[in-house]
Amino acid sequence: MTFSELTEGVYRCGSDRVNWYLVEDDDALTVIDTGFPAHWQQFLHRLDELGYDYTDIEACLLTHAHPDHIGFAERLRETCDVSACLHPADIQRAQAGGEPPLGGLVKNLWRPAILRYFIEVIQSDGTSIQPVQTVERIHDGHELDVPGRPAVIHVPGHTEGEVAFYLPDRDVLFCGDALATVDFETWQGHTPQLLPQWLNIDHDQARASLADLESLGNVLLLPGHGDP
Ligand SMILES: [Zn+2]
Repeated sequence: MTFSELTEGVYRCGSDRVNWYLVEDDDALTVIDTGFPAHWQQFLHRLDELGYDYTDIEACLLTHAHPDHIGFAERLRETCDVSACLHPADIQRAQAGGEPPLGGLVKNLWRPAILRYFIEVIQSDGTSIQPVQTVERIHDGHELDVPGRPAVIHVPGHTEGEVAFYLPDRDVLFCGDALATVDFETWQGHTPQLLPQWLNIDHDQARASLADLESLGNVLLLPGHGDP
């Protein structure tokens, strides 16, 4: 378990392999990605630790609709009455419960790091995701009027609707799986990199999307997988 304040009002949550984040602003919170379903208990603990309750959650932003990012989004909606914000191109996937790239995962199970990841998926209920029912559509260039005031940058390639969220006044970029900071196949190293080709729906597009992040300059890069 990892829970630390990375920079002013930005907290990392999740597991060693899967990150989601809380952003604090004016005594309210934005949840960025929702890990696996089993992370719900952790979410409740974090709220408690930070001195918040359900009514302080103002937004749930999803970088994309894979099972390790939408895990407790529906439960959050039911409990806190916040709809998940998602790019329209990933809505169908979210309503189908995530649609993981199972074929690629199975083919790569001989890799110890992928096997460990797969075991975590199963142990964390990542194979039984509650479909995300009500979704607020977000688009490239939107500045969202929620805690942290994130800007939406559409960076397709990992999935069709992959987005990054940029906090201009804190120079923080939540890049989802547009980039990881660890080699997903070996779980080694610490440099920004694309996910392996077999995990991206369109690897060339994922590479091309990076151009839209380049103009941001230096940021604290907070990925779905890997350390800041
Ligand atoms: Zn992921």
